[in-house]
Amino acid sequence: MPAKIMDFEAPILDIKDYFDEGKLAVRVVKLGTAAAQGFEFKPGQFVMISVDAVKSINDPAKPKMSSMSICSAPHEKNFFELCMRIHEKPGPSVSRYIGEKAKKGDKVRVKGPFGVFSMVEGHETAILVSTGTGIAPMMSMLRHLLATGFKGKIVFFYGCRNKNDFLYGKELQESAAKSKNLDLQVIFSREPYNGRQGYVQSLLESYAFPSDLSKVHVYLCGNPVAVSEEKKALVGRGFADANLHEEKW
Ligand SMILES: Cc1cc2nc3c(=O)[nH]c(=O)nc-3n(C[C@H](O)[C@H](O)[C@H](O)COP(=O)(O)OP(=O)(O)OC[C@H]3O[C@@H](n4cnc5c(N)ncnc54)[C@H](O)[C@@H]3O)c2cc1C
Repeated sequence: MPAKIMDFEAPILDIKDYFDEGKLAVRVVKLGTAAAQGFEFKPGQFVMISVDAVKSINDPAKPKMSSMSICSAPHEKNFFELCMRIHEKPGPSVSRYIGEKAKKGDKVRVKGPFGVFSMVEGHETAILVSTGTGIAPMMSMLRHLLATGFKGKIVFFYGCRNKNDFLYGKELQESAAKSKNLDLQVIFSREPYNGRQGYVQSLLESYAFPSDLSKVHVYLCGNPVAVSEEKKALVGRGFADANLHEEKW
């Protein structure tokens, strides 16, 4: 059954910032769900968020709504987490307002969950591929798989610019060290990391995938160009379209 769509005010419980070249690039916020008893979602879904101070360009009487994927997993109760890139252009931007002005205790309006990007049942290998803040739904999926004791193999591919941009780096490295079935494959485009440098698709072109791909499902998220290039690489490796699941923004 689809999760019930709820509309509520969520206080900011915690903030973690990532800076690049001295500027705030990405902000991760934990939002409380006390005002939304029974708030449920599937890993991969997103919410629409707004703040009173940022109005819609098309209808200035209304707040602007922005889509953000949920990074936390369903078993994590009383809060959920979002990871947002802070936009630099002038003009109304919910993420920039939250990046520049929001502090713990401030409230964000939330509506959701929405979306059909979620994991299928019955796969033996789950491959999660993302770039930049496209990591958001992948963190929800990974945290869910690890918490629910998924027995198959998980390969987590992540591409970003450099070490400052390596979102959830510490958690991912710790999870990979602890979980025998998790293989973490990270690449930076602007500096070497583990002896390599480039885009995530170069890893997909050479990775030793299982020979039977029928029960291997791949989840891709990131900007449209990156997702298209990654899909091209996977189709080239023999993946069927039906096993590739994507979210682009
Ligand atoms: C399903 C889904 C999930 C997503 N999940 C995430 C996520 O987890 N993390 C993440 O960082 N991003 C995510 N995104 C992308 C995010 O929703 C967009 O980048 C969104 O635009 C951010 O909204 P904003 O209000 O912060 O800034 P924007 O709307 O991107 O505003 C940036 C600038 O665009 C201009 N602008 C805004 N509105 C208009 C307009 N109507 N006309 C002309 N110019 C305008 C303004 O100059 C403004 O400063 C997701 C998108 C989708 C569809």
